[in-house]
Amino acid sequence: MSWFCDVELGPPIEVFALTKQCTEDTFEQKVNLGVGAYRTNEGKPWVLPVVRAAEKALANDETLNKEYLPVLGIDAFSSAATRMLLGEESPALVENRAFGVQTLSGTGALRVGAEFLARNLGKTVFYYSSPTWENHKLVFKNGGFLEGREYRYWSEKTRGLDIDGFLEDLRNAPEGAVIILHACAHNPTGCDPTEEQWRQIAEVVKERKLFPFFDSAYQGFASGDLIKDAATVRYFVQQGFELFCAQSFAKNFGLYNERVGNLTVVLNNAELVAPVKSQITLVIRGMYSNPPSHGARIVSYVLSNPDLYNQWRDNIRTMSSRIIEMRKKLREALEVLGTPGDWTHITNQIGMFSYTGLNEIQSLHMVKKHHVYMLRSGRISMCGLTPSNVDYVAKAIYETLT
Ligand code: PMP
Repeated sequence: MSWFCDVELGPPIEVFALTKQCTEDTFEQKVNLGVGAYRTNEGKPWVLPVVRAAEKALANDETLNKEYLPVLGIDAFSSAATRMLLGEESPALVENRAFGVQTLSGTGALRVGAEFLARNLGKTVFYYSSPTWENHKLVFKNGGFLEGREYRYWSEKTRGLDIDGFLEDLRNAPEGAVIILHACAHNPTGCDPTEEQWRQIAEVVKERKLFPFFDSAYQGFASGDLIKDAATVRYFVQQGFELFCAQSFAKNFGLYNERVGNLTVVLNNAELVAPVKSQITLVIRGMYSNPPSHGARIVSYVLSNPDLYNQWRDNIRTMSSRIIEMRKKLREALEVLGTPGDWTHITNQIGMFSYTGLNEIQSLHMVKKHHVYMLRSGRISMCGLTPSNVDYVAKAIYETLT
């Protein structure tokens, strides 16, 4: 007899299970398009040169030690991260009604933000796009939310955004519901609303008194331009919204396993900063007490040094332009082969992921027959494509569809 007899076996997490399966596969031409991590043209993980430089400098800095950080992390880091998101001139920053909190990457920012909203504002309902990054549901449920509801987003038919369905679902949302919005480079579809569509979305969010919780996992990584990728969040701030934004530095700094993130909080009154901060402090204190320092020190060091900052922007452009190039190459290869269907969505989409339009059976066939590892939903990570495997992948798609 054990206390644990009734514990049921949980389902595997698809993306991790897929990576394991790929690692164990001995087929030479196998391609991993599952995992969301940058790869070079040679298919190798990349530590950004600017990160290496910062790590060397930090390793030699004898003034740094291993004492605990404050509960809310390194202030210089969270301020720099918040400025990077909102822009130096943001009205919210000028009026001292915005601040940042260091978190355990983007996931941690979502989790802390969700728990605060559930605990302190009594929020119970959250909305997420259909489809969304699959962890949103678990994070918000674990954060204390009772009910997750979908809003329409992706249209199979047009392989683009279902803006009418999106707006209609928001219009039917109950007042006060929290709505998760991808700041840019929507995961998994790679399909973002246009500027005009964001304006319509903002209007409905305002009208229905919903609370926008942005998820910004790809600033700079999506277009290569930090300002462009933050434009939507900045637009909402200009429109006077109070909002949360979870920022991840996993992709744009390549700091996946260092777990460096920031929760940006925008309020409409500077007097609310102290009480809100104090309650977030209690949420974090009771969750993991305080964050690690290594990744945040790197980001902070780079963001505060003009020379390194420029180098970092070059590094980001290297990554985003390689991805854009791979989109072009994949589409071209599919079209040259005469693959059935329209492939313009591959180059219209942005960021790390692409929804290919392949269905579950076809995606499983890609894995089984061709050793091209991709999610059942038809999502591929563009980062796994290289000049040497893109033709192989295109041929596999062609064979699957014909
Ligand atoms: N949100 C989205 C939309 C993501 O794609 C990711 C990364 N896959 C995250 C949040 C969180 O990532 P991390 O916790 O590694 O920063």
